[in-house]
Amino acid sequence: MKNLDKDIFELIEKEEERQIKGIELIASENYVSQNVLDATGSILTNKYAEGYPSKRYYGGCEIVDQIEQLAIERLKLLFNAEYANVQPHSGSQANSAVYLACLKPGDKILGFDLSHGGHLTHGSPVNFSGQLYNAFFYGVSKDSGLIDYKTMREIALKEKPKMLICGASAYSRDWDYSFFREVADEIGAILLADISHPSGLIAKGLLKDPLQLCDIVTTTTHKTLRGPRGGVIMMGKDFDNPWGYKNKKGDKKRMSTILNSAVFPGSQGGPLEHVIAAKAVAFGEALQDNFFEYMLRVKQNAHCLSEGLSSLGYDIVSDGTDNHCLLIDLRSKNITGKDAELALGQADITVNKNMVPFDSQSPFITSGIRIGSAAITTRGITINDINLIVEYIDEAIYLYKNKKNTHSLSKKVNKTMSEFPIFKY
Ligand code: PLP
Repeated sequence: MKNLDKDIFELIEKEEERQIKGIELIASENYVSQNVLDATGSILTNKYAEGYPSKRYYGGCEIVDQIEQLAIERLKLLFNAEYANVQPHSGSQANSAVYLACLKPGDKILGFDLSHGGHLTHGSPVNFSGQLYNAFFYGVSKDSGLIDYKTMREIALKEKPKMLICGASAYSRDWDYSFFREVADEIGAILLADISHPSGLIAKGLLKDPLQLCDIVTTTTHKTLRGPRGGVIMMGKDFDNPWGYKNKKGDKKRMSTILNSAVFPGSQGGPLEHVIAAKAVAFGEALQDNFFEYMLRVKQNAHCLSEGLSSLGYDIVSDGTDNHCLLIDLRSKNITGKDAELALGQADITVNKNMVPFDSQSPFITSGIRIGSAAITTRGITINDINLIVEYIDEAIYLYKNKKNTHSLSKKVNKTMSEFPIFKY
């Protein structure tokens, strides 16, 4: 069958080779287990199942109902959540459904500034969230690189946004959810935590838990959680909607009902049941004790990367990391984020350029790179191997700046990675 479409399957093989031979340091990526891959590539992709388990708009859903219900139950158990929706096709879709449920166009929202490490869907003007809603931003303080909670509160009290959003794409420190809770209560805002990046660490108790403090929590499933590409929405506790919306019987609608309607039919059609099955597999894996060991190693590896790079004079924003990622400000190394991404890419080390707080460069150039430890840790890399990776990073940047050939370095990188399977733990 495969040779019927040589073009595509040859390219998939090449991509597999690329993923195996390089050092993957993109903080939002990971390698999934064979079981997650098998479920994602299964015949469940053939099934339409608009609606929710036992309330579908299509026949023949008896089996996918059980799959989706298992995914929901496992996710609830993993995060101690009273409510879970596993249908969002991505993290962005999860956030858009939450906004649809809680906001009207033009309402104010307050999120973490994209240029300080936030995400597009938290109000960026180039994203629907900044175009449909009136977005305000908080950021980090210039001295510490840590979230400026005081200014965040001042903006919140002044603007009184309907929704307060915590969470980031490139912030390496833990979040003070209780402070956000206090501020949200002061102004009567809905508090959303988008834990897309650290969700795996949160699930295993290695970072503070937002589930019982924030009203709604969203996450992608493909980063530290190590599942298929997708999103989910959760609530630690369900609650009556604060806007007085009633059902046909005249009772106040629960938030769970409103969120479910905002996903389907509000912003999506048929759920991807093959991906939902793969989410269920990943949640099952994350519920195992050895996932705690994996997450612990991810955290240790990120810490060692940060220490190693900092000992070579790299400027780590906020001086370290509490989670799986770090943001490197390259201004002291006289190289842009764009060039560093290129330099490392030539040596088969994959990272992404990233704005650093108070960046003077554009988002296409940037002054920084973001690196993460989730993917390399899945391959079995431990703190004993981190120094070598730090040396490779430094050598790649040195060679690029001095216009030297990276061929022998990429050979060394490939040799090192040939000792690690694509999925070890
Ligand atoms: N929220 C945060 C904090 C993210 O980091 C990301 C992805 O990078 C998303 C949402 C969006 O997820 P997706 O790319 O699946 O739409």
